[in-house]
Amino acid sequence: MGIAENYQRVRGEIPDDVTIVVAAKTRNAVELATLIDAGATDIGENYVQEATVVYNQLGEKAKKVRWHMIGALQKNKINKVLPIFDVIQTVDSLKLAEAIDKRSDRIVPVYIEINSGKEPQKSGVMPEEAEETIRRISHLKNLKIGGLMTMGPRFGNPEDARPYFRETRKIFEYIRSLYILNLDMKVLSMGMSNSYEIAIEQGSNMVRIGTAIFGERKYDK
Ligand SMILES: *Cc1c(COP(=O)(O)O)cnc(C)c1O
Repeated sequence: MGIAENYQRVRGEIPDDVTIVVAAKTRNAVELATLIDAGATDIGENYVQEATVVYNQLGEKAKKVRWHMIGALQKNKINKVLPIFDVIQTVDSLKLAEAIDKRSDRIVPVYIEINSGKEPQKSGVMPEEAEETIRRISHLKNLKIGGLMTMGPRFGNPEDARPYFRETRKIFEYIRSLYILNLDMKVLSMGMSNSYEIAIEQGSNMVRIGTAIFGERKYDK
């Protein structure tokens, strides 16, 4: 099956109110144009440089979709991220949030990345620090927190990821219950190709899908 059919099959399988972010790392502009024509609404990129190339190659078509930064963001790349991306899903510290706030002249929607597996080598805010970090970021005038994002540990059996999705959902509901000013907590971004069904069962309303649409990546950067 082609990538357009794959996209439409996944789209048909999951509820309408769950957004699909096409995880596009290593994919080219021709593939993305095919998916945009097939109805894709949201594209996620991990690398600023790669995103800039495909964004420019897509021309007017690029403006039909929302662009999500889903990779680790270094402070020295913020100026390149802001013109392209509509959402930064990987805000994982107050320092990074402050750096974005300083460099932006518009309100940038961001999600807070949660290290739901508490893995020391992985990025994301530790669950027990989420409230404090979110309270502090909520005071920055050029950022608007729109939700939470998590990767969760990688397992061969996606069922093993369920507790981490459940934990992130709990944090999401808890933060919403606090009615912190200047928050717009609507999105819970979790679930990838092998885990999106479980993530949706646990309350995800945004899944980031690469392999199930494109097939296996030939290389990872
Ligand atoms: C690559 C990637 C995905 C998608 O992974 P697949 O297993 O290919 O669906 C989702 N989220 C992030 C942050 C990624 O880097």
